[in-house]
Amino acid sequence: MSATVLQLKTQHQYQHDTMRADLVTELAARYHDASAADILYAVLQEKVAGDVALVSSFGAESSVLLHLAAQVKPDTPIIFLETGKHFAQTLSHKKKLINEFGLTNVLEIKPDQAIIQENDLKGDLWRHNADQCCDIRKVQPLKAALTGFDGWITGRKQFQNSARLRLPFFEDSGTHIKVNPLARLSLEDITTYMEQHNLPQHPLVAQGFPSIGCWPCTHPVTADEDVRAGRWRGQGKTECGIHL
Ligand code: SF4
Repeated sequence: MSATVLQLKTQHQYQHDTMRADLVTELAARYHDASAADILYAVLQEKVAGDVALVSSFGAESSVLLHLAAQVKPDTPIIFLETGKHFAQTLSHKKKLINEFGLTNVLEIKPDQAIIQENDLKGDLWRHNADQCCDIRKVQPLKAALTGFDGWITGRKQFQNSARLRLPFFEDSGTHIKVNPLARLSLEDITTYMEQHNLPQHPLVAQGFPSIGCWPCTHPVTADEDVRAGRWRGQGKTECGIHL
């Protein structure tokens, strides 16, 4: 590649990055006091952040975001990262939510099998190197799945742990716009919404799992712990990497 072409590409990328950052600032101001439903309507129907997918783990509280999105646009592209390590209960809960909410565009994204063969042949990489396991089973597959999308919607909330206390509605990830419509909802808001709409409970919640990911890295929590304290317990790891 010639120096001029490279310079033009860099300039183009810079302009693109600046436009995305400006849009995030504008959206944050415009929807500062908006409800989760209003933000989802603006993003999914009015496409204020461009083409956007929703990423869901179909975990403990996922039903709220999925139900809200289904009211606005049931064919919203929903990305589910099929790591190969989910609880059987999560897979059955996923089926149930898809049927009950009439979701028509759920995409199961799997890791690259050649990479798995090379790095995690025995399937126990999570024991020795959880960061690498998350990278090949979650981070890289999501990166590939988001190609062609301008942004993605997450179900993160401020109350989930101290690292999320200042989570905004709109973020610039450096490559995409991240939308967090539930950011300001409390655990009580979530519970009330689920009760009002009679949403199905993930079967593991009743067994002390308020936050649910892959089975090797998810443990029950006590009443005085953060809801995500059971994730990667004892490993000093709090996020899988898709939000870093
Ligand atoms: S959560 Fe655990 S099993 Fe799942 S991808 Fe990350 S390290 Fe691997």
